Amino acid sequence: MSALPRSSHALVTGGGRGIGRAIASALVGAGATVTVVGRNRATLEDAVAAGDAHFADVADVADQAAIAAAIAMASTRQPIDILIANAGIAESAPFAKSDAALYKRMIDVNLMGVVYAFQAVLPAMKDRPRGRIVAIASTAGLRGYAYVSAYSAAKHAVIGMVRSLALELAGTQITVNAVCPGYTDTDLVAGSIDNIMKKTGRSREQAIAELSRHNPQGRLVTPAEVADSVLWLCGEGASAITGQAIAVAGGEV
Ligand code: NDP
Repeated sequence: MSALPRSSHALVTGGGRGIGRAIASALVGAGATVTVVGRNRATLEDAVAAGDAHFADVADVADQAAIAAAIAMASTRQPIDILIANAGIAESAPFAKSDAALYKRMIDVNLMGVVYAFQAVLPAMKDRPRGRIVAIASTAGLRGYAYVSAYSAAKHAVIGMVRSLALELAGTQITVNAVCPGYTDTDLVAGSIDNIMKKTGRSREQAIAELSRHNPQGRLVTPAEVADSVLWLCGEGASAITGQAIAVAGGEV
């Protein structure tokens, strides 16, 4: 594992729980100062109290002014060297029932929430000795899955944006990458499991097996496994890695 530079400041959106919390915790463990951002203050403060982050700021990533203000606030404590745009939501529906409002919700949070965070950190990050930007996309950004067309469209868009921005910034000291988890054991997947049980009458074990069958390793990915890849991308040794979409999915893609 390549080390983080001393006293880096990392900001993790959606860092209060799930994959974002595991990433925040891993960055703290690697010596970074970590700010977590999300909508729910209690969840964020729990992360700070548990030692998985140092500071918490409340913002909805889909609200450009709010996320810009949170990033500005965090930057006054210490300029940001590492941005992990992790916050995301997933809703499923057959394509015929995926209306404009559902598409808009998926795009607003999963694509524009990432764009707004990137745009807010970049001007100051360009003046830092180095910068690392990672979007948590999904294997749904690399392949399709039935009944999540809007989510998958937003995640494909994030990867396209990351690949393009990486080329724009290739002459700078900033790298931009996406990490693409397969089904990972978090609240988000718990929601999908409940949905499968409700809609198909299957048991919890059967619903978990339904999601795990996508992964050739036959299991859900753990948040810590996703965090390890992010940590590697943030390290000094990953300075030649940019514009990549790295799957953490047991060989699924
Ligand atoms: P969880 O539902 O467990 O956590 C989602 C996190 O995002 C929470 O911290 C939540 O905080 C935050 N969040 C959601 N919407 C917003 C918003 N509008 N503004 C600010 N924060 C927000 O999800 P995961 O940890 O599983 O997912 C994290 C990322 O990983 C997402 O981008 C997801 O798409 C992606 N992913 C997840 C996979 C999985 O199987 N779990 C697989 C592939 C990708 P709060 O509620 O406090 O706002």
